[in-house]
Amino acid sequence: MRAGLLEIFQETYRELRAGASLPEIKIDFFAFANVNNTIRLRNGKLLVRLSDLLEGAPETVLRAIAHILLAKMYRRPVNRGQAARYRRYVGSHEIVRKAHLVRQMRGRKLLRPARGHFYDLDAIFEELNAHFFHGLMARPRMSWSQTRTRRILGHYDPAHNAIIISRIFDHPAVPAFVLEYIVYHEMLHLKHPVRLRGSRRCVHSADFQAEEKLFPRATEANAFLKRL
Ligand SMILES: [Zn+2]
Repeated sequence: MRAGLLEIFQETYRELRAGASLPEIKIDFFAFANVNNTIRLRNGKLLVRLSDLLEGAPETVLRAIAHILLAKMYRRPVNRGQAARYRRYVGSHEIVRKAHLVRQMRGRKLLRPARGHFYDLDAIFEELNAHFFHGLMARPRMSWSQTRTRRILGHYDPAHNAIIISRIFDHPAVPAFVLEYIVYHEMLHLKHPVRLRGSRRCVHSADFQAEEKLFPRATEANAFLKRL
């Protein structure tokens, strides 16, 4: 369990229930396929289960979820700022995508050929490999997604060593640099594997983010993606 999380729950408890004695609190992370957090009271002990999708969340978000769970438990009004902060985090692109990734990895995997109707993912990988990685990266299985999903634009699946890119990008209206940007992002996941730092999962490390900024038309690509 990550350091500080118990203290966050204890402090939040004291804020909500000044004067009440502090119960024992047990917090575990669980691999929920959906972002899901629960709290219950058993034999005077508070049992908290947090989705492992929140493991890398910033402290402000963990304070927000502690507030929401404890306020619900003790029927106190939920602070609107805290609720908004939590919703923003969960609704953010990364969490949505990660939730989908987890769901997909726990489900069945069907890979499609790299060559689509308009774009060839193997070719794009090799161009990016030469341009950004000195050609040093071993190419994983490159696959278009089964469905035309707008919610997971791409993901790297370490279990299958595969990069899967949403089929919506295999279209002449999609500029090559936008697709390249998506593939580049997934290649950075290959280069910077998700690792545990303490008990904290770091998905987009500082190194990852710095390297992502090296993509020359990132701002333009992001603007295109926002309009999808
Ligand atoms: Zn990512």
